[in-house]
Amino acid sequence: MKRIVVVGGGAGGLELVTRLGHALGKGKNKTEIVLVDRSRTHIWKPLLHEVATGSIDINNDGVNYRAHAAKHHYQFQLGNVTKVNPHAKTITLDSLSDDKGHSILPERDLSYDTLIMAVGSISNDFGTPGVADHCYFLDSHKQAERFQQALLNHFLRVHQEGPDAKLKIAIVGGGATGVELSAELFHVAELMKAYGMPEMSGKRIHVELVEASGRILSALPERIANSAAKELTRLGVKISENTRVVRADSNGFQTADDKLIEADLMIWAAGVKAPDFIKDIEGFETNRNNQIVVRGTLQTEAFDDVYVIGDCCACVQPDGSFVPPRAQSAHQMASLVYDNIKGSLKGKPLKEYIYKDYGSLVNLSNYSTVGNLMGNLMGGSMFIEGRIARFVYISLYRLHLIAIHGWFKATIVMAAQKIGKVVKPKLKLH
Ligand SMILES: Cc1cc2nc3c(=O)[nH]c(=O)nc-3n(C[C@H](O)[C@H](O)[C@H](O)COP(=O)(O)OP(=O)(O)OC[C@H]3O[C@@H](n4cnc5c(N)ncnc54)[C@H](O)[C@@H]3O)c2cc1C
Repeated sequence: MKRIVVVGGGAGGLELVTRLGHALGKGKNKTEIVLVDRSRTHIWKPLLHEVATGSIDINNDGVNYRAHAAKHHYQFQLGNVTKVNPHAKTITLDSLSDDKGHSILPERDLSYDTLIMAVGSISNDFGTPGVADHCYFLDSHKQAERFQQALLNHFLRVHQEGPDAKLKIAIVGGGATGVELSAELFHVAELMKAYGMPEMSGKRIHVELVEASGRILSALPERIANSAAKELTRLGVKISENTRVVRADSNGFQTADDKLIEADLMIWAAGVKAPDFIKDIEGFETNRNNQIVVRGTLQTEAFDDVYVIGDCCACVQPDGSFVPPRAQSAHQMASLVYDNIKGSLKGKPLKEYIYKDYGSLVNLSNYSTVGNLMGNLMGGSMFIEGRIARFVYISLYRLHLIAIHGWFKATIVMAAQKIGKVVKPKLKLH
C-alpha cells in the first residue's frame, strides 16, 4: 500500500491530512495517510497569545490528534522528526521518553512514498545573547502555557505586595504577535479583579513593546499600524520604536543605545525561521530562514515526491519576495497540494501556487480589531475596524474549524465553546 506522510499538524498540515484522509484513506484501494506531530494536541497557532494569557484553555479548545485521526481516516504518530532522507524516502522520529526520562519508544524511521513538510516556524532570536535563557517564546502551546503559569504567579506576587506593586512585562517584536499579546495582557489583568484580586487592573501592569524598525506592524499598511498604536497607547502600553535589543539578562533587555528595559517577564516575538533541523537535510535547498525552497507546484527543487507547505516553505512570488508566513498562506498551500496529490494520481498536470492576499487583521483583545480586506470587488485594499473586523477575524478561526471537522461538528464545537464561556471561568486559573 502507498503511504503519504504529513509532518506537522498545524494550520496547513491538519487541514491537508483531513482532506487526504477522506479522499484516499478509505475504501478498497486506500492509501495509508499518516500524520506525524511532536505534540498530542492541535491548537490553531494564531490563538497562542490567548493561551499565553489564559483566555483560552488548550484542554477545552485543543484538538486531540489521535481522536481526530480515528474520525478522518488517517493514522497519527507522536514524534519529533529530526532527520529526513529524501534519497532513501525516510524520516526519522526522535526517541520518546516520559517526564521522568524513562524511555517509551526508541528512535525510529518511517518510510514514505509522498512526503509533505508542514513543520511551521519557530522564533528567531538572531543569536542575541541571553534571549534563549531569559525569554518566553510563543512557538508552541507548551511554551504559551509556561508563560501563562509565570503570569499567574506574578499576578499573585503583585497582589500580595500591595497597591503600589507593578508587574513589568517587556515584549520584543512589534509584529502581530507582540501587538495582540500586549492588548490581551491588559484584558486579563482587568479580569483578575473578578477572581479574588479586587485591586488588580490594567494599571498594575507596565507593558513595553519594543520594535527595532520605525513602526509597529511594519509588514502591514500604515493606517492599521497607526490605529493599533493609538489603541495600545490608550491602554497604557509603552511603544518603543527604533529600539534594537542587543542582550537579555535577568534584569531585562539591554538596547543598542545602552539603555536597560527592566522586566519581570520577557517575551521574544521578533521574527520567525523554520526549525533548525531543516537546514541539515541533504538534498533540500534552504534560504537564510531555514525555509525549504520549492517550485511553483510546491514540490522541492530536487524531489517530486516531497511537497512543502506553510511557514517552512520558501515560495518565491513574481515580484521576487517570499510568500509571507501566515495562516492564510498555509491554508491555501494545503488546498493546492491536496489538488496536486490527487491530480498526480490521475496523471493530470500539476497546478502552480499563486498566493492570494485576502488582507490582514490584528485583534486587540476585547478592545478593538483593525485590519484590511483585499479583493477585486473592493478595488484593492479596504481598511476595516470594530465589529466588522472582529467578525471577520473570528470567521477565520471558524473556517479552520470547518476545514478540520466539517460543517456539522464545527458548528457543535463552536456552540460548545460559547457555552463554555458562560459556565466556566473567563480565564484559565490553574
Ligand atoms: C501568536 C500568533 C498569532 C498569529 N496570528 C496570525 C493571524 O492573525 N493571521 C495569520 O494569518 N497568521 C497568524 N500567525 C501566523 C500563523 O499562526 C502561522 O503562519 C501558521 O500557523 C503557519 O501554519 P503551518 O501549518 O505552517 O505551521 P503551524 O501551524 O505552526 O504548525 C506546525 C506544526 O508542526 C509541528 N512540528 C514542528 N516541528 C516538528 C517536528 N520536528 N516534528 C514533528 N512535528 C513538528 C508542530 O507541533 C505544529 O503542530 C500567528 C502566529 C502566532 C504565533
